[in-house]
Formats: sequence, C-alpha cells, structure tokens
Amino acid sequence: MTSSAKASLIDGKIISADLRARVAVEVARLKREHGLTPGLAVILVGNDPASEVYVRNKGLATKEAGMNSYEYRLPAETSEADLLAKVAELNADPAVHGFLVQFPVPDHISQQNVIDAIDPSKDADGLHPLNAGRLASGLPAMVPATPEGCLIMAKHAGGDLSGKHAVVIGRSNLVGKPVAQLLLKENCTVTIAHSRSHDLPAIAREADILVAAVGRPNMVKRDWVKKGAIVIDVGINRVPAPEKGEGKTKLVGDVDFADVAEVAGAITPVPGGVGLMTVACLLRNTVIAACRRHAIDLPKDF
Ligand code: NDP
Repeated sequence: MTSSAKASLIDGKIISADLRARVAVEVARLKREHGLTPGLAVILVGNDPASEVYVRNKGLATKEAGMNSYEYRLPAETSEADLLAKVAELNADPAVHGFLVQFPVPDHISQQNVIDAIDPSKDADGLHPLNAGRLASGLPAMVPATPEGCLIMAKHAGGDLSGKHAVVIGRSNLVGKPVAQLLLKENCTVTIAHSRSHDLPAIAREADILVAAVGRPNMVKRDWVKKGAIVIDVGINRVPAPEKGEGKTKLVGDVDFADVAEVAGAITPVPGGVGLMTVACLLRNTVIAACRRHAIDLPKDF
C-alpha cells in the first residue's frame, strides 16, 4: 500500500495462517482422541500451469496441517467416463473425507456432470447442487471455500455485518452466488450485480461491503467505492508487467488496489488476500466433512 493510502489492509497471510493453525490443532485432536486423520484429495486433469500451482499449494498446505493429501494427475485426453470413474472411486474411499476436481477441466468434459457425480458429503469445494441448495435454504452445507474466505475477511474487518449493504459483483456458482448467500445469512442487505447490470459504479458506491468476483483486471476504481467501505477482491488476473522485464507478468485483482485504498476503510490485496483463504477454508471443510462422517463434534467456533 502507498504511504498516502488510508484503508487498512485485510491481510490474507495473517488471517489464513490463524485459520490453518486452528485446523492443525483440530486435526491433532482428531488423531489423538479418535485415531482419525482427515484426508483431502485433488484430481487434476491436464497440465494447466495455474492449476498445477494451485494443486501443489493445496497439497503442501494439507500436509502442513497434519492431514493426508492425495493427488491424482490425469492426462488432458482423459475421457469424461474415466474421470467420473475416478470420482466414484474417491466417493467410496474411506480415507478421503473431502475432495475436489480442479477446474477448469478440458472442454470435452462437462464440468456440471463432474460436480453432480461428487458425493455431496465429500464435496470439499461445496459446488454440488445439494450443497448450494442447502446453503440457500440456511441449512448446514459444505460451503464453497473462496466465498467462506471472503466472509471471514469481511467479518475480520467489519465485525458484525448485520444490516450492512453488501454489493457482490459477479454471479457465478463458484463465487458470486454463494458469497451473496453467506452475506445474507449474516443479515446483510445484498445486491448482486453482473455483466448486464446498469450503471455498475453507482450500484457499487452504495456498498458498505463490496465484493468483486469478476475476472476483469483493476476494474473497480476509487469512484466506485463509498468512503470507508470494506472491499474484498476475489479476482486473480495475470497481466503483463513490463516494469519487471520483457515478457514478465504479475497477478492483479479486479480492484485497482492503490486507487481504491485511498477511499476504502479496509481492503484485501492480490496476491496475499482471498486466494490464501481459499486453501485454508478447503482444509477446514475437509475436517468438518471428516467429523460429520464419524459423528464427532467440533468446537462451536471452529
Ligand atoms: P466467472 O467468469 O464464472 O464469473 C464472472 C462474473 O462476473 C459473472 O457473473 C459475470 O457476469 C460478471 N462480469 C463479467 N464481466 C463483467 C463486467 N464487465 N461487469 C460486471 N460484471 C461482470 O468467474 P468466477 O466467479 O469463477 O471468478 C471471478 C474471479 O475470481 C476470477 O478472476 C477468478 O480467477 C477469481 N477466483 C479467485 C479465487 C480465489 O481463490 N481467490 C477462486 C475462484 C475464482 P455474467 O454472469 O452476466 O456473465
């Protein structure tokens, strides 16, 4: 952040480290008291470089928390039937308490067919329609990790969010819709904006909490943001960075950080923000899934 910036930083490194430490404590307790080691599996189809990095990071974080990590790397030409067979195998594997298929999958595979095939109780990413429906109905569900991470960060900055106006830009099943559901559950007044919304800056300016989950680099500028608002930037966009050298790139969010930090009350950085929370929440989901499977109570504040 520049020295003139006014917003406080919602630091994903600190908040995610705290959550991962709490996960590790719980994992140690499950091992000690129940002889249970939660297991998280990830299936990666093909070799998309960004996905490779995510999968490697997830595996490292899983082991660091004391959990079992399983990785299945399938070639890009894997058929949908073969992928669904792998999903069925993990559904039946008692050592795997949660798993996900890293998206995107190659074009010849239907992402929805894959999601539908995952046992909802092992759906670490919370994408199965049953979990989405349960979340929308206010019932216990596997909650998508990135949205959960957004909520934790918003609460970290804003405490009780009740009555606040939250504007979520983006309506994907992966981020926008579940973030909106979670904010609604916190008693926010929620507006969901998207590519067909009229006068997006005016809508965004109404927000006490602004969540950007769009995939457009630096789209949100300072004149989109109410003074003092909490700004959660979900976007991860790779852009050219000629200042780092020819052909170099860097990651930026959907929010123009330096510009918006001049007016926001609190803001998440990219990198070092929501992305780190996603991994921590995935680990937490796996512990929750393991406990539900074995009818073990978790501490209320876990
Ligand atoms: P999608 O492409 O699935 O959804 C993008 C949403 O943004 C859509 O609802 C779309 O509207 C809306 N949108 C697109 N362009 C505009 C625009 N010009 N104005 C207003 N709304 C617009 O993306 P995801 O939800 O999967 O991801 C969003 C971002 O978050 C990406 O940058 C992605 O990389 C990042 N991400 C980060 C994660 C993390 O761990 N930090 C995890 C997952 C995603 P419409 O529906 O009308 O098309």
